[in-house]
Amino acid sequence: MKDFAAALLKRLPQADIRQSEDMKKHTTFRVGGAADYYINVHSTEDLKEGIACCRQYQMPVYVLGNGSNVLVSDEGLRGVVFQLDHDFSEVDLKQEKDGTIYVTAQAGALLSKLGNLMLEKELTGFEWAAGIPGTIGGAVYMNAGAYGGEMKDIVRSVTVLTKDLEIETRELSQLFLGYRHSALMDEDAYILSVTFAMQRGGREVIAAKMEELANRRKEKQPLEYPSAGSTFKRPEGYFAGKLIEDAGLRGYRVGGAQVSEKHCGFVINRDNATAQDIYQLTEDVKRIIKEKFGVDMEREVALLGKF
Ligand SMILES: Cc1cc2nc3c(=O)[nH]c(=O)nc-3n(C[C@H](O)[C@H](O)[C@H](O)COP(=O)(O)OP(=O)(O)OC[C@H]3O[C@@H](n4cnc5c(N)ncnc54)[C@H](O)[C@@H]3O)c2cc1C
Repeated sequence: MKDFAAALLKRLPQADIRQSEDMKKHTTFRVGGAADYYINVHSTEDLKEGIACCRQYQMPVYVLGNGSNVLVSDEGLRGVVFQLDHDFSEVDLKQEKDGTIYVTAQAGALLSKLGNLMLEKELTGFEWAAGIPGTIGGAVYMNAGAYGGEMKDIVRSVTVLTKDLEIETRELSQLFLGYRHSALMDEDAYILSVTFAMQRGGREVIAAKMEELANRRKEKQPLEYPSAGSTFKRPEGYFAGKLIEDAGLRGYRVGGAQVSEKHCGFVINRDNATAQDIYQLTEDVKRIIKEKFGVDMEREVALLGKF
């Protein structure tokens, strides 16, 4: 460990490398134990150097965006967490002859930031995404979607750092974006930037749509509590929240974790929950739904560490 720490520092002399960093501070569930090492990444070079060092010392690697779709174990994470900083977020715009505007954003850009930029530049197609509290990298990795839109509709290509630490560009057809899934989930590739194809729209129409969707979120979702959004994927032919409600699980609690009373599809950290409380609650929900309705529920939230 000592050798590794020294090697990491040598490769990343400018980086703020933290040891035993509490992951509660870096995830929207506000739970999780300490990561052995935690680095806020500001550039492609730092990510590449850092991962190369981990490979050399056989240290596990975790790459996070905004931590809004993960549940980190109370035992923490052995290895290194690289969290893409929100300043890893340069954006570049190019207009093609056919009128399409190609917007390339670095992976650490928050969807809210890109949403505001799209509004400012009067580009339509991103309105549904602006209220999701994640980064571009996290959103494309799992093909985030909301209100009838999904990343698949607007992504054109993605630049990744491959498991061999090469920088490659993948076209949309190579990403196999499906319901909360991408081909990148099946390999150790990290998203560095994403290019979106956008169209011109009217500023007022875009602003009105964004406001309407933000109001719908406030009205329907328990935004006043820590969570990771919808905890389960939509089982084919059903709605997760409706199944949970019909099973009588509205408000169901395990320790400090609770099925939201406002939106049954959300598990919330109601009162100092542990990651184990949240995990156990999701296991209970899966078992009860299977017993009552014969439906298999799958977590949408990624589990990191030991459960
Ligand atoms: C209140 C609330 C509302 C939400 N609403 C929605 C919604 O409407 N629709 C929706 O789809 N989701 C929603 N979510 C879930 C979450 O915000 C999205 O899944 C988001 O896209 C996750 O992005 P992130 O940057 O936080 O990813 P993280 O949580 O940091 O990471 C999620 C996964 O992606 C991987 N990952 C992250 N960045 C990269 C990268 N650069 N390269 C490779 N892998 C990476 C991580 O390793 C991890 O496995 C909501 C969450 C909350 C808390």
